[in-house]
Amino acid sequence: MVSRVIPVEEFDLVIFGGTGDLARRKILPGLFRRFLSNQMPAGSRIIGAARTDMDSDGYRQMIREAIAEFGGDESKDKECIEKFVAQLHYIPVDAKGTGGWEELHDLIRFEVVNAFYFSVAPSLFGDLAERLHSFKIADDDSRVVVEKPFGRDLETAKALNATLAEHFDESQIYRIDHYLGKETVQNLMAVRFGNMLFEPLWNNHYVDHIQITVAETVGVGGRGAYYDQSGAMRDMVQNHLMQLLCLIAMESPSMFDADAVRDEKLKVIRALQAVEPHHIVRGQYDANKDSPSYRDDAEDPRSHTESFVALRCEIANWRWAGVPFYLRTGKKLKARSSEIIVVFKDIGHSIFPGDEKRHRNILSIQLQPNEGMQLQVTIKEPGPGGMRLIDVPLDMTFAEALGPDAEDSTDAYERLIMDVIRGNQTLFMRGDEVEAAWAWTDPLIEGWKARGDVPKLYDQGSSGPEDALMLMHREGRRWHEIKE
Ligand code: NAP
Repeated sequence: MVSRVIPVEEFDLVIFGGTGDLARRKILPGLFRRFLSNQMPAGSRIIGAARTDMDSDGYRQMIREAIAEFGGDESKDKECIEKFVAQLHYIPVDAKGTGGWEELHDLIRFEVVNAFYFSVAPSLFGDLAERLHSFKIADDDSRVVVEKPFGRDLETAKALNATLAEHFDESQIYRIDHYLGKETVQNLMAVRFGNMLFEPLWNNHYVDHIQITVAETVGVGGRGAYYDQSGAMRDMVQNHLMQLLCLIAMESPSMFDADAVRDEKLKVIRALQAVEPHHIVRGQYDANKDSPSYRDDAEDPRSHTESFVALRCEIANWRWAGVPFYLRTGKKLKARSSEIIVVFKDIGHSIFPGDEKRHRNILSIQLQPNEGMQLQVTIKEPGPGGMRLIDVPLDMTFAEALGPDAEDSTDAYERLIMDVIRGNQTLFMRGDEVEAAWAWTDPLIEGWKARGDVPKLYDQGSSGPEDALMLMHREGRRWHEIKE
């Protein structure tokens, strides 16, 4: 098959925090896979930068080891690894000091695309941005990539945006939410706006409700103390689930262009209504005989931080008025699964005698672990004996439907980094989007604090607290089962 991947230009990519966990686990192995698929033009360079004192050879060795550990099947090709690491450089730099910055200036080429990935704590963003300018390392065409968390509330997000805006134009800033780099997430837009079938039904006349679930089987493990400062609302809902909600609910942009798409997403966030306290459930996983509780992991026996949250919200606009959106995410749940479920309304009247079941079309969009889609339709049960109806799924698991070409192992990170090099901001959050998302989540978090809300305990390996099930049951609905 002829590749239709848009090529990238030659680039210099500086990774601040190039020795950190994210760089070793995701960014560098991802770039290596891009190198293997000829997406890293000859002459391009990746420059690690952090305080650790080492030379480029030391860094190459660090990344060889990272690729061996996190690079998957591709990591066995020693010759390719050597060619890749030859494109790596390292400069010891302290974001808060002056050492190393002149050397970085001398290394960077202004005649190629240059990008600066801030894979460091957000408290260092301002120092990095300021030095990139004062040492004249970045210019008006440079790009900066920043990692989540983008603030911990509206105030801190505004401060971060203001800090970056002092030195960079919004068109140069790429705020990463790796969920937006997933194949199926982009496919959401293709399905909605590339088909005649769905869009006419995509509104409150035909949709009963929508569910978005991001379930994890892992706990907070070794990063409990860090996670305890955040919780599921800040860590998952404010960014990932909100982005999925926007893509599923937004109006059609006039074209597939960064600002057109982001304008529409922003309108969705701004139309989100405040959530009533009884429409939100928080949970913490309990201990079992093999595994500690959330509070043990967080090393705080009195922690009120949630490892699970489920909520019901509504979007106040003509398309969605009255349609509930149920969002749910949590740790130590029964399966690792991210999916969006669009449940259409019952048929108004059945012409088939004896058929009392409420038949509904359900569109399930799986984001992980397997990417695909299923549409539940009602058909006649085969065989004699009259008209009996059954619901069957039309399965569109991409790997099966499209063959080996669908098995695009492109990880979200590598896809997004290449979009930075291409200068395509469509899959990155704009500053006003992030602020609007915090403006919606802040009152929920403050409400818990004001009410002294205590998260409900739930069993590890379950679907979350009972109350989360009740959130839907009391409205005559049920969650789609969490399964891989
Ligand atoms: P990490 O393992 O603690 O790495 C931090 C990096 O920053 C190290 O390379 C460290 O190297 C460098 N650093 C620290 N202080 C510095 C300074 N003053 N000047 C220059 N470099 C400095 O953290 P991480 O897990 O990679 O996370 C990096 C960022 O990504 C954070 O904002 C995090 O929230 C975000 N993030 C991480 C993940 C993940 O899976 N890890 C996922 C999503 C988002 P030296 O000690 O050598 O300076």
